[in-house]
Amino acid sequence: MPGAIMDGRALARTIEEDCRRRAAAYRQRCGRAPRLDVVLLGDDPASRVYVRGKFRASERVGIDARDHFLPADTSEADLKSLIERLNRDDAVDGLLVQLPLPGHISGNAVIAAIRPEKDVDGFHMHSAGALMMGRGEGFRPCTPLGVMRLIASTGIDLCGKEAVVIGRSNIVGKPLALMLLEANATVTITHSRTPAAKLEEICRRADILIAAAGCPKVVTAQHVKRGAVVVDVGMNRTADGKLCGDVDFEPVRERAAFITPVPGGVGPMTIAMLMQNTVEAAERHEKARARG
Ligand code: NAP
Repeated sequence: MPGAIMDGRALARTIEEDCRRRAAAYRQRCGRAPRLDVVLLGDDPASRVYVRGKFRASERVGIDARDHFLPADTSEADLKSLIERLNRDDAVDGLLVQLPLPGHISGNAVIAAIRPEKDVDGFHMHSAGALMMGRGEGFRPCTPLGVMRLIASTGIDLCGKEAVVIGRSNIVGKPLALMLLEANATVTITHSRTPAAKLEEICRRADILIAAAGCPKVVTAQHVKRGAVVVDVGMNRTADGKLCGDVDFEPVRERAAFITPVPGGVGPMTIAMLMQNTVEAAERHEKARARG
């Protein structure tokens, strides 16, 4: 029997509904909606699509999302002074800079300039450090957090399970491996230097297999143990412009117990987690104001 689909759209809707209730309660208590400021440089079409998705979700949830669209040739100094201004603005709860940035700007320096309390993307060193130390401060990055929620929706307990992550980026692979470790899985991270034959052997051990390589069909049926949970983070474009993941979906589904589709799996969950982090940032901000 083919594996069950983990429906990211349906799960995202229930998370957004919870965020909507929290945002409404916040608005009643504080006299304003939680606010998210989004900075975008240039007109990269994919970034525009992602930002539009974030604004639509904010509207559904009742988050006051503001855009700061700047030309691609904005200097790093000008970008940092905008961030400084938004850091100081008490009306701003969450702040994110859409990646990737143009080549003349250091992404690391820009993310480091965001106040950790407003870092709803969870990319700041403070958030990354808190995750590594197993502390509740900071924010968890949205995509790995969404993957963990999808896995939790299967009802499978990760304790003692073998988890394999393909990809070691700072925004997906590494934080996801830490979250799986926190849930007591035994974790292996693979990457582009893992020899292809070794990758197949490692992946076949996985009870939980997560592909975040940005490489179409890097996971075939040969990589998958029967009964595994397979999560596809990849978002790639086929030659005819269609969206596809990293997993060869149909044959892998025949072996997996659970599998995410692309689109409709991790993508909507990433946005739902951004909404959750933003509401959380507003609530923490409210508590900080009350403390004076
Ligand atoms: P990234 O920064 O390019 O990292 C890709 C990682 O995969 C790297 O660690 C790379 O290894 C590894 N890799 C590449 N080819 C590989 C191969 N053939 N075998 C094994 N490992 C391989 O990308 P990312 O930002 O983590 O994103 C990964 C994918 O997820 C992309 O398709 C991206 O569009 C997608 N994504 C989706 C969402 C969503 O919301 N659905 C969010 C974020 C990202 P090295 O480190 O050795 O280079």
